[in-house]
Amino acid sequence: MRKQILVTGGAGFLGSHLCERLLNGGHEVVCVDNFYTGQKANISSLAQNQYFEVMRHDICFPLYVEVDEIYNLACPASPIHYQFDPVQTTKTSVHGSINMLGLAKRVKAKILLASTSEVYGDPKVHPQPETYWGNVNPLGPRACYDEGKRCAETLFFDYYRQHQLKIKVARIFNTYGPRMYVNDGRVVSNFVIQALRGEDITIFGDGSQTRSFCYVDDLIDGLIKLMNSPDDFTGPVNLGNTAEYSVFELAETIIKLTGSRSRIAFKPSPEDDPRQRQPDIALAKEKLNWQPSVNLTEGLNKTITYFKQIVGL
Ligand code: NAD
Ligand code: UDP
Repeated sequence: MRKQILVTGGAGFLGSHLCERLLNGGHEVVCVDNFYTGQKANISSLAQNQYFEVMRHDICFPLYVEVDEIYNLACPASPIHYQFDPVQTTKTSVHGSINMLGLAKRVKAKILLASTSEVYGDPKVHPQPETYWGNVNPLGPRACYDEGKRCAETLFFDYYRQHQLKIKVARIFNTYGPRMYVNDGRVVSNFVIQALRGEDITIFGDGSQTRSFCYVDDLIDGLIKLMNSPDDFTGPVNLGNTAEYSVFELAETIIKLTGSRSRIAFKPSPEDDPRQRQPDIALAKEKLNWQPSVNLTEGLNKTITYFKQIVGL
């Protein structure tokens, strides 16, 4: 059955992949984006599809569209972008979620939130299960994002309890792949571009902090499986790859895969940078029958191929 699906943040990195997959699945997609970090180029290949529609709109303001499902992805995800205008970041998570939940209530749509592993802050439990309440500094430079998403989760669960909305909450761990913005600032895109250009690879801190990197195709599978899961499964559910690497190991791997002559340059560590991060995905395996299938080398090679075209190599 062809569904009408709204994707907020649909011109962004994850959103554009999601729009493409939903269209390929035979659905009608309305992409809403204010192009804060999103790119028209990400969705240009979809423009010819008669079932694809783009609306320039900021979700901090109400929106009226008739849809069956809403994927709420709108929000800058890279620290440099979400810290550039922190008040707008919180507004996007909080006012934006209220507006999208209000829309879902009015049109009786199912609604999914793209939440984040950042709700765990600098975690004291490792790996992180969904039952862990997190260790977030509510006053620091990352708080606009972390607390914004935590409040968005609260709103989703209050609408579920108070208004019986059909909700789904995904906690997404670091995801990478083609269509990340060149100036995105996140570690994978930064390192790949620096390596391709022969520039210094900028490691913040000593590089011993860890992250677990999920390739975009796997993540999109997880989001769609979550949306299509039985109504009594709301999440929150972790979606991410369990293979954990230090930032230093990531830099070495990217230098090797690109054959780059770049050198490593150590820079000061950003405030409140989480020391470690690895998802416990037992719940996603059990409830969604989901686990990632693309390993780091395979995913990085696809990402490197993409960025070679972008930087003109
Ligand atoms: P992105 O910055 O590429 O995409 C975000 C999109 O939202 C952009 O197109 C941007 O223009 C749009 N946007 C921002 N504010 C908006 C607003 N007020 N109204 C309408 N559109 C707005 O980031 P991404 O990596 O694609 O992340 C998508 C979602 O997934 C975000 O909600 C992010 O928090 C979440 N997430 C991503 C990751 C990851 O590793 N990529 C990890 C955890 C969570
Ligand atoms: N990082 C780095 N060099 C960069 C960009 C990021 O060493 O050029 C580090 C950053 O300090 C963090 C990790 O890489 O420890 C992941 O950063 P990213 O911004 O990609 O995501 P997040 O911190 O939100 O997980």
